[in-house]
Amino acid sequence: MNHVASPVLVIHGGAGVVRKDMTPEKEKAVRAALEKALAAGHAVLKAGGSSLDAVVKAIVVLEDDPNFNAGKGAVFNHDGKNELDASIMDGATLRAGAVANLHRIKNPIELARAVMEKSDHVMLLGDGAEQFAQSIGMPLVDPAYFHTEERWEALRRALDEAKTKTAERGKTPHHGTVGAVALDACGKLAAGTSTGGMTDKRFGRVGDSPIIGAGTYADARCAVSATGWGEFYIRATAARDICARVEFRGDSLKQAADEVVLGVIPKLGGDGGVIALDKNGNIATPFNTDGMFRGWIDKNGKTHVAIYAGE
Ligand code: ASP
Repeated sequence: MNHVASPVLVIHGGAGVVRKDMTPEKEKAVRAALEKALAAGHAVLKAGGSSLDAVVKAIVVLEDDPNFNAGKGAVFNHDGKNELDASIMDGATLRAGAVANLHRIKNPIELARAVMEKSDHVMLLGDGAEQFAQSIGMPLVDPAYFHTEERWEALRRALDEAKTKTAERGKTPHHGTVGAVALDACGKLAAGTSTGGMTDKRFGRVGDSPIIGAGTYADARCAVSATGWGEFYIRATAARDICARVEFRGDSLKQAADEVVLGVIPKLGGDGGVIALDKNGNIATPFNTDGMFRGWIDKNGKTHVAIYAGE
């Protein structure tokens, strides 16, 4: 193995943190889950595994945890269904895979990776994506697997607010999308994102998470996974914009990520955050919401988990 870098892993569990809604129990559970996902992904890197493997490993832990809006714990759409999206990108080769509008895939990030590696395509949707999953032997789960009382209650509240018109259009809270970016010992970067989207979404709505260049992007220099109000991240091509600033303007990772998340997106009217990582192991995690569930294991192997600014 050509060892050129100390491995680094950065993860997020969404930027939709509302400080007043956080209980000490919830906070404890989320921090523990982030630590678990970091440990799982970093073990892959430490053993010489690829950044792609580490990204998938960490995201699967978060998808399986009902505290996050991805996999088990995904929010409900307007019709009372869980509709899942995910994407992944390999920075070294610019290969990418994405899936959207899934109802029966337990770990959407694994299907996104399979689209990248086992199909001739980049993005598959809905029934077609699930047919592809079956064709490669990936089992389908009963859609009831994704049901959680907390998310059901959130939909009920959103529907009530819509009836009484107290909700601001598009302002349904976005909670707990998950993502990971990794740098492996060979110096290769990867990024991945997985989500249930936004509570009460309608008409087959797809956000930024499965859109390569918007919610997920990785190249040889930079890897990004986003969370937030997806429509704005799509319009800003946020993840690609951050990497392009690093590539073409020579911006530092922090400068590029800050300008897009704290400048471009809020100017358009959106909110959220990103995790970003460069080939030298530098990390940036800007957000403009109350908080963003996030964590990393840095070049020195030190673990850090945070929710609010300044942590
Ligand atoms: N970005 C996701 C979406 O718009 C939501 C989120 O990050 O919480 O679907």
